[in-house]
Amino acid sequence: MEEEEKEGTILEIVTIGNPVLNRKADKIHNIDQGVYDLAQSMINTMHDAPGVGLAAPQVNQSVQLITVDISIGENDKDLIVLANPELLHMEGEAVLEEGCLSVPGINEKVTRPFRVVVKGIDLDGNEKVIEAEDLLARIFCHEIDHINGKLFIEHLSPLKKNLIRKKLQKQKDKDFRE
Ligand SMILES: [Zn+2]
Repeated sequence: MEEEEKEGTILEIVTIGNPVLNRKADKIHNIDQGVYDLAQSMINTMHDAPGVGLAAPQVNQSVQLITVDISIGENDKDLIVLANPELLHMEGEAVLEEGCLSVPGINEKVTRPFRVVVKGIDLDGNEKVIEAEDLLARIFCHEIDHINGKLFIEHLSPLKKNLIRKKLQKQKDKDFRE
């Protein structure tokens, strides 16, 4: 029998064009076994991808759950799981190239706040308030955008968005032919 390394499975990541990515996700009312299992599978999926963050809509679950791990599995302390995450405070500005597992092959510079304060519920059901700066702040903003049905490319200029749409369509046509 094959041995599984960790609990939970690796889920399929949905990509741009799937309506689940444009929908505001539902609030989580209690951390039950289903939420716990989804979180475990999201952690596995994020580490496997690999990525520094994942939001439940990206695995086709329209609920307000995010996983964040700036070390991608290197340091247990960096793993954060939050239900119902929201931004309490934002300040400063930083520009950095960003990508998304749901928008494959696209990396663009996005302006985000440099520092944020995030509130959410952890897997023990406790309220958490987290202060984050720089890259971690960016990841929180990106994942909370997903919870609100927004992709990072929506922060770009209409011209850039149009170019990306064309590029993605070309990729899709190519995948279809192959
Ligand atoms: Zn993303």
